Amino acid sequence: MVLKTPPAIEKQTKLKDMGFMNLGSIGFKLAAIGLKGLADAFSIGPGGNRLSILIYHRVLPKLDPMYEGDVDAVSFNWQMKLIAEHFSPLSLPDAACCLKEGRLPPRAVCVTFDDGYADNLTTALPILKRHAIPATIFIATGYLNGSMMWNDAVKEALRVLPDEELDLSNDDLGIYRLETQADRVMAAMSLIDHLKLLQTSVRDDMAKQLLEAAGNPEAHLMASSDQVRELHKAGMDIGAHTVTHPILSKLSAAEAYREITESKEQLEALTGEKVTLFAYPNGIPGDDYSSEHVQMVKRAGFTAGVSTSHGVANRFSDLFQLPRYTPWDRTPSRFMARIVRNVMRVT
Ligand SMILES: [Zn+2]
Repeated sequence: MVLKTPPAIEKQTKLKDMGFMNLGSIGFKLAAIGLKGLADAFSIGPGGNRLSILIYHRVLPKLDPMYEGDVDAVSFNWQMKLIAEHFSPLSLPDAACCLKEGRLPPRAVCVTFDDGYADNLTTALPILKRHAIPATIFIATGYLNGSMMWNDAVKEALRVLPDEELDLSNDDLGIYRLETQADRVMAAMSLIDHLKLLQTSVRDDMAKQLLEAAGNPEAHLMASSDQVRELHKAGMDIGAHTVTHPILSKLSAAEAYREITESKEQLEALTGEKVTLFAYPNGIPGDDYSSEHVQMVKRAGFTAGVSTSHGVANRFSDLFQLPRYTPWDRTPSRFMARIVRNVMRVT
C-alpha cells in the first residue's frame, strides 16, 4: 500500500529518537502518534531498502495455554491486517531479489512459518488470503503425515496423562504435579527445558514413552503431504527446514548435508517445483549452525537462507543468513513498535 500523506517533520524527529528507546517507551510514544503516523514516518525514515522477516510457527484456532508462544487466529488476523495496511508484504524470493538490487519497497515485510504445522493451512492460510499476504512455509519433512516434534509430544502427553503426578526421578528428570491445567502447562515447560539439554536419542525416547503412557493421543499437529501441496497450490512458497530438525552443528558434515539435501529433494518431489529457500533449525548463527553449513546450503542449490538472528536485512546482508524474529507482542501498538524498532536498529 502506498502512503498518502508525508508525515510532519516533528514526527520524523520523534521516530529517529525511538531507535534508542526500549519497547515500553515506543509503546508510550505510539499512544501520542498513532499507528498511521508511525507507519508514515517509518516509510521515509531509515526503513528504506530494509527487510523485516517475521517468524511464526503455529496459528492456533483458539488460544491454548500449552502453546502460549504461538498466536491464535484472532491475533494473527489483526497482525496481518496491520501488515497489509501499513507495510509492504512481499514473498521471500521477491524480497531477496529486491534486497540485492536495492529496490525494496518501503516498509518491506516477509512472513514465514517454521516446521510445517497443519494449522498453517487450516487457520493461517484463509487469513493470509484475506489480506493478500504471501508467506513461506519451512518444512521439516520427517514430521509430515502424523509424526510429532519431541517438544509437542511432551505437551500433548502431559495434557492428557491420567495421573495427577508424573514421577521421572528414576531418569533424573524430577517429579511433576499434574493436578490442574496450570500444573500441566508448567510441567511441560519445565520438562522441555530439562530434555533440551539431553542427547537427541534420549530426549526422543522420553517423548515417545510419555506419549505411550498418555495413550498415544492423536493431535494431527503437523501437515500432511496433501496439505503441503495445498499450501503450494495456494501460492505459498515452500522452503526446506531439514528432515528431522537437528541442530546442524551437532552432526557430522555428512549427516548435516544429508539433512539439508534430503528435505529439499522430498519437498521438490511433493510440489513438483524447485525448492530454493532454507531455514536453519533453531537458527542461531555460531550456535546452531556454522559457516560450513552455509556453504552446504549453497552447494545444495538453495538461493537464500534464513536464520533466527534478530535484526533487519539490508543490501549488504548475507542472502544465505537473512535475519528473522518472532513478533511475540499481544497488542497492535507493541507489534508495530517492534517492527519499527527492528528496522531502525543499526546493523
Ligand atoms: Zn524449526
